[in-house]
Amino acid sequence: MPVPLFASSLAAQMPRVTERLAEVAASGRYILGPEVEAFERELAAYLGVGHVVGVGNGTDALAIGLRALGVEPGDEVVVPSFTFYATAEAVAAIGARPVFCDVDPETFCLTAETVEPAVGVGTRAILPVHLFGNVAPVAELRRLGLPILEDAAQAAGATLDGRRAGALGDAAALSFFPSKNLGALGDGGAIATSDREVAERARLLRSHGSRDKLTYTDVGYNSRLDAIQAAVLRVLLPKLDGWNARRRRVAAAYAEGGLAEHVTLPSVPAAVDHVYHLYAARHCDPQALIARLAARGIEARGYYRVPVHRQPALAPYLPAGRPPHLPGTEEAAATNVALPMGPELSDDQVAEVIAACASGST
Ligand SMILES: *Cc1c(COP(=O)(O)O)cnc(C)c1O
Repeated sequence: MPVPLFASSLAAQMPRVTERLAEVAASGRYILGPEVEAFERELAAYLGVGHVVGVGNGTDALAIGLRALGVEPGDEVVVPSFTFYATAEAVAAIGARPVFCDVDPETFCLTAETVEPAVGVGTRAILPVHLFGNVAPVAELRRLGLPILEDAAQAAGATLDGRRAGALGDAAALSFFPSKNLGALGDGGAIATSDREVAERARLLRSHGSRDKLTYTDVGYNSRLDAIQAAVLRVLLPKLDGWNARRRRVAAAYAEGGLAEHVTLPSVPAAVDHVYHLYAARHCDPQALIARLAARGIEARGYYRVPVHRQPALAPYLPAGRPPHLPGTEEAAATNVALPMGPELSDDQVAEVIAACASGST
């Protein structure tokens, strides 16, 4: 039985989605406009924040979010190295300097303890990543006294102590890349914040740094959410909690089926409601496991095997030109293995994955 890595639920929503697409096509309003404003209000209410600003993609949401928080060229921003490249790329793209911190290999997220050694006099912000749908301990980062931009691209709907990822820091970046838990039919992203000034600055920056298209006060971006993506997202947002609940049921089925005998299961802090963007287990020989699964038609994949601080483009940002020693990052990078996950994964498929992990394991 073939089992895909991502088992999405989009198909069932297609009739309603295509209806809405036809309405937007007939409306004549394609960039920003009422459809985007409605989605921004609905997402703000869902997250429990005051403002959402729709932008072109999650990477731009990070760059614009950092600038809206006041990060300037030359400032330092602490980022985990075990993340998607875009997290650190956005810091460098605005002329700031990514300073890499370690992660806890159990949770794949940074902690106050791993951030602290990376903080210095030049630090202007911390950029925690809610990796794989887990939630970084933002509340404990607060005691470091620095502005926090959450990278919530992989954690739409997740919570920490009952509050949504995206509502925990001073601002947050979300991505609606199609494979994310809340995915559009193309690129899309958003900045979430409860700070009205940060929201206004983000609105300005997404439209060429101009309020009135006459006076340009900032060198900004052309990065707007379009009405087509907003209309799609308005159909899908009400489904998100149900989909995430089904992802958690799949995770529970993996655990109940005995998967822990064959791999190290994802670790979920007690205060977190994980949304399993990826079901990232760990294994001492992940490539052998991936090959064994592939032989049975099961898709599995290792993520971020070369962590960001060892990517060639970011070498100029390393202190003394040398990669820092980040043992938790190296362990996470070497051992992670994402197993099939998604709201549509069946009990039989879960059993098949567990059986395949068991075969040949010692
Ligand atoms: C997807 C992702 C991004 C970037 O989002 P895009 O919409 O693809 O630009 C940033 N950070 C993380 C952790 C992501 O997973």
